[in-house]
Amino acid sequence: MDKPRHKDCDDGALPAKVNLLGMGEPQLTAFFSDIGEKPFRAKQLLKWIHQRGVTEFAQMTDLSKALRTRLQEIAEVRVPTVVSHTASRDGTAKWLVQVAGDNCVESVFIPEKNRGTLCVSSQVGCSLDCSFCATGKQGFNRDLETAEIVSQVWIAERALSASGRAVSNVVLMGMGEPLLNFDNVVEAVNLMMHDCAYGLSKRRVTLSTAGVVPALDKLGEVTDVSLAISLHAPNDALRDTLVPLNRKYPIADLLASANRYLDALPDQRRKITVEYTLIGNVNDRMEHAQELASLLRHTPCKINLIPFNEFPGTAYRRVSNNAMYRFRDILADAGYTVTIRTTRGDDIAAACGQLAGQVNDRTRRSERYRARAGADEARPVRVLTG
Ligand code: SAH
Repeated sequence: MDKPRHKDCDDGALPAKVNLLGMGEPQLTAFFSDIGEKPFRAKQLLKWIHQRGVTEFAQMTDLSKALRTRLQEIAEVRVPTVVSHTASRDGTAKWLVQVAGDNCVESVFIPEKNRGTLCVSSQVGCSLDCSFCATGKQGFNRDLETAEIVSQVWIAERALSASGRAVSNVVLMGMGEPLLNFDNVVEAVNLMMHDCAYGLSKRRVTLSTAGVVPALDKLGEVTDVSLAISLHAPNDALRDTLVPLNRKYPIADLLASANRYLDALPDQRRKITVEYTLIGNVNDRMEHAQELASLLRHTPCKINLIPFNEFPGTAYRRVSNNAMYRFRDILADAGYTVTIRTTRGDDIAAACGQLAGQVNDRTRRSERYRARAGADEARPVRVLTG
């Protein structure tokens, strides 16, 4: 009979090394305290890993030789493998990152004149199955670990440094629903904002959600990142057909929760971003724009219009330019700040909603349908065996 294997053991022999990549300051401080080291080691490690991109303890020269040797024995900085790195004609870059379980997730860098935005994935696939999103069509496998989320920033920073570019903004708008991977996402954004790691301000880290209301209420208690909500429709009847989660958390509840999030922030000038994917002949009519203008009148927000990006197998079509500008003008005339997200990277399938990675779907179809109907749980039950 086979010897029982401890889950932390590699080949039943050595205990697996602990990966320091996803640890924030509190976790690193606890780790160092466990091995009899002073708390300030945590900050030193954060700087080495995230600012200097060093993964070998031997190169961390302000640590004592004895500590470096000890760390080599018990820990590692394990960065996922980059399967491919594609550059688009417009400068957009996409990384396909291999994560455990034979899955891949994608992250995208969008360079602009004064900033560089990295679009980061939070889950392998997505369980929400929004009707217009390529990620949802791939099904859902699992939540990403904190290390896997933050590694996307690590990888982009290293790859970009040669060209003199850097990640100045992060948006959690890649694959997955960040609020369904709450703890890992919060730890990852804390690292993105930590002065000894990536040092991004709360205005430069944006979490985008389809509207998991209880999790959004909890978010305000633990962080103050910028918030974007994926609305896409001005009424529940239409939103139900686009975002199945709406049947569980309708628009009024979502906007109330977003307002509570804003109310709790010390800076009362902050706004949320309302994302509205414009789909040809679906949600792009004048009446929709008028209804949206009225719907949002009590929510401090700016509105980001995203022309629908087509992907293989979808029956939806891109909005016409006429309809898009008419939609924008109605909102602008009503006093809103409106931006149109220019489509970037569509030649390498890196545009919004085109991210599909490689997902081994572990969600039973019946469960996905149950989630769509909003039966009991926001998060569908996952199949635990492969
Ligand atoms: N689950 C989160 C984050 C991922 S989606 C959320 O729903 O917000 C990030 C943004 O891309 C969302 O606003 C989403 O609606 C938009 N998007 C998805 N598919 C798209 C498509 N095919 N074309 C344009 N935008 C799309």
